Amino acid sequence: MGHMRLQENVVLAPLTTLQVGGPARYFVEARSMAEVREAVGYARSHGVPLFVLGGGSNLVVSDSGWPGLVLKVGIAGIEESGHNGLMQFEVGAGEEWDKFVAAAVARNCAGVECLSGIPGSVGGTPVQNVGAYGQEVAQTIDGVQALDLKDGEVRELCREACGFNYRTSIFNTSERGRYIILRVTYGLTPGGEPCIQYADLKKYFAGWSLKPTLRETRDAVRRIRASKAMLIVPGDEDCRSAGSFFKNPILLTEKWQEINQRAAALRLHIPSYPALEAQRKVSAAWLVEHSGFSKGYGAGRVGISRKHALALVNRGGASAAEILALKEQIQSRVEEIWGIRLEPEPVFLGF
Ligand SMILES: Cc1cc2nc3c(=O)[nH]c(=O)nc-3n(C[C@H](O)[C@H](O)[C@H](O)COP(=O)(O)OP(=O)(O)OC[C@H]3O[C@@H](n4cnc5c(N)ncnc54)[C@H](O)[C@@H]3O)c2cc1C
Repeated sequence: MGHMRLQENVVLAPLTTLQVGGPARYFVEARSMAEVREAVGYARSHGVPLFVLGGGSNLVVSDSGWPGLVLKVGIAGIEESGHNGLMQFEVGAGEEWDKFVAAAVARNCAGVECLSGIPGSVGGTPVQNVGAYGQEVAQTIDGVQALDLKDGEVRELCREACGFNYRTSIFNTSERGRYIILRVTYGLTPGGEPCIQYADLKKYFAGWSLKPTLRETRDAVRRIRASKAMLIVPGDEDCRSAGSFFKNPILLTEKWQEINQRAAALRLHIPSYPALEAQRKVSAAWLVEHSGFSKGYGAGRVGISRKHALALVNRGGASAAEILALKEQIQSRVEEIWGIRLEPEPVFLGF
């Protein structure tokens, strides 16, 4: 014992991309499995709840903070091994996600190139099955190593055991709070072709005579993301956000048809592309923009990003309460007009 560094009353706002929220009563950054165990033991013996923090990019912390122990998983390392034409990368949960994507692309391995530029940690990616531009981590995760808080055992969960779905896994649904993710193994394809299926990417590469490389695809994704403030660029206040604040609602066929008819009656056309249609998803951004909100909405310290209708941004000095007030205002307007209750995507701590 005695390896972990315990801190007290650590303000969480700077540890999140939205930059709101009060202090954690206790705070530990654990760099090894032993330190993770030690922190868990400390929380137990002091009778305080535990919250696992990654990069804080999908998180809204309340202004009053959190009365428990925040455990930031800082386990590092990227290890490669080859198996039957696949390349496996075993990555520490504390590694920055985009650093791993860059490494995979540099090794000419396909499978995560469209997920370039997503902020946060590797350990955060299985939790909500991170996805963008036609890929999601469920397609490449071979396994997740996690500490099971139920019995203190380290478990190796295969992909199926993770129960991946759109923005969900067992880690944020049925088994929420049970596992601390320590390492994630991704199986990538050496020399594989980039996945260019998403409309924005196709448009970007329209007119190219040569097939884009993985490197070019990564660059394209990062450029497109930057134009929507979905890439963290220092100095761009539009990216002081938690990414998309609402999930694309998945509707039953009947409701989906009704919404399309309602839109048609208003001479509006709901954007629809295969990725959305296949799952009867409606664009949350479209719903927000057609409920009286637009990019750049809001005059105070919180508002909607000028570059992305789904991102609520802290324009400087905002409180969590102000973020929540705007969230609720948007939810009730959308519900009033379209009869759909938008579900938030980020995790809320301390409310
Ligand atoms: C500008 C911007 C753009 C974004 N774009 C996208 C996008 O395109 N697609 C997308 O899917 N998401 C996107 N996001 C959301 C976010 O980046 C991802 O959800 C990311 O994977 C969260 O990882 P994190 O390490 O920051 O997690 P945190 O925000 O720290 O935590 C989120 C949740 O995961 C849990 N968690 C984190 N690490 C662990 C661990 N090691 N073990 C157990 N639980 C853990 C936390 O307890 C919490 O419940 C975006 C966010 C921002 C700010």
